Amino acid sequence: MSKNSFGFTTKLVHAGEPDPRIEGAVSMPIFQSSTYEYSGEEQYDDIRYIRLNNTPNHKAIQKKLAAIECAESALVTSSGMSAITATLLTFLKQGDHLLSHKSLYGGTASFILEDLPRYGITFDLIDTTDPSGWSMMLKPNTKVIYAETITNPMLDVPELGAIVDFAKENNLISMIDNTFASPVLFSPAELGFDISLHSCTKYINGHSDIVAGAVIGSDEFIKIITSRMNHFGGSLNPGACFLLHRAIKTLELRMIRQSKNAGQIALFLENHPEILSVNYPGLVSNNSYERAKKYLSGFSAMVSFEVVGGKTRSIKFMDQLDIAINAPSLGGVETLITRPALSSHSGMDPAERVKAGITDSLIRLSVGIESVDDLITDLDQALIKTAS
Ligand SMILES: *Cc1c(COP(=O)(O)O)cnc(C)c1O
Repeated sequence: MSKNSFGFTTKLVHAGEPDPRIEGAVSMPIFQSSTYEYSGEEQYDDIRYIRLNNTPNHKAIQKKLAAIECAESALVTSSGMSAITATLLTFLKQGDHLLSHKSLYGGTASFILEDLPRYGITFDLIDTTDPSGWSMMLKPNTKVIYAETITNPMLDVPELGAIVDFAKENNLISMIDNTFASPVLFSPAELGFDISLHSCTKYINGHSDIVAGAVIGSDEFIKIITSRMNHFGGSLNPGACFLLHRAIKTLELRMIRQSKNAGQIALFLENHPEILSVNYPGLVSNNSYERAKKYLSGFSAMVSFEVVGGKTRSIKFMDQLDIAINAPSLGGVETLITRPALSSHSGMDPAERVKAGITDSLIRLSVGIESVDDLITDLDQALIKTAS
C-alpha cells in the first residue's frame, strides 16, 4: 500500500515514522544529543545540530506535519509566535507592504502593529470575510496576505477561497494561521494557500504541556524559512518534539470529540435566557456558518459568549464553575475559560477592542473532551447561581 494514499488518521499515526524502526522501537525515541558526528555535510543548514532543526526527532515530526496537511514540507518551531514571526520576516523586507486580517491573535497583531514598522514594513488591515474591499488596499509593494482560518475570539471564518484567488491574481504570498481549525478541519495547501502556520501548543499537541509551532508549505518555501530560522534560533528541543509527536497521533480523535462537545454547548448557550449572544461557526444563526460549511470539515471547539449582566456577572459566573479552568490558551483536553479582554487581547486599545466585538464581558470557552453532560450541567448551575 502506498503511504501517500493513506487516510488522515493513518497518517497521524504512521507518517514520518522511521523506517526501519530504530532498534525496533515502536515509539520514536528522544535523541538527546545537541550535535552529531560529521558525515560529509557541505552546507551550513545540513550540519546536524538541534538549532538547525534537523535531528531525527525534528525530521520525523516535520514529515508527519507535512503529510497530514497534504503539503511537501514542514518546519517545527519553538512556539507558534516563532513560526509566525520567522515566516513574516522571511517574506517581508524593508519597503514591503502586508495585507492582514483586522483582528488577529493578540501576539501576531502586536507584532504586526509594533514590530514590523520598526523594520520599515507597512501594513493595512482588511476584513477577510468580505473580499469587496481588498483591491482598494492593494499597493505596488504588497507582498503578503495574512489570515486566520477561524478568528479569535469572535470565531469568524474568512472567504478562504477568495484569499487564495486574490493572492494568485496579484502575485502575493498567502499565509494562514490554521491553529483554530487544526489540520483535521482544514488543509491550507489543498485549497492553494502558500503557507500554513500553527501554534502546536493548542490543538495539535492538545495536552497543555508544551509550547511549539509549525510552518507547513512547499519544499522551496520551507527551505528558505528554515534557513532564516536557523539564524533566528527558534528551534524546538528534542524532548518537546517527542511530546508533540506522541500527542499528534490522537489529534483527530480529540478534535472530533471536542468539536462535538462544543456544538452541543453552543446550542445550550444559544437557548439559555441568561445568555445575550453566542459566537460559534457551527450555529446556523452565525454569520460565518455558510463559509465554515463550505471550507471546513467541522466547526472546531472554541465558543465565545456574553452573559446577561455585563462584566461583573461574567466574573462571578466564571468563579462559580467547577470544571472549566480559568486560564488562557486553548485546544487541550481540559476545558479552559477566559475573558479575552483580560488575557489574549489585553494589549489592544480598549476602544478598538470594543469595536471588534471584544467587550469586557465577552467570555471564551475552549471546550475539552470531558463528558458533555457534566460541562453543560456545570455551566447551567453557574448561570443559575449568579442570576440577579
Ligand atoms: C496561541 C496562538 C498563537 C501563538 O502561539 P504560541 O505557541 O503561544 O507562541 C498564534 N496564533 C494563534 C491563533 C494562537 O491561538
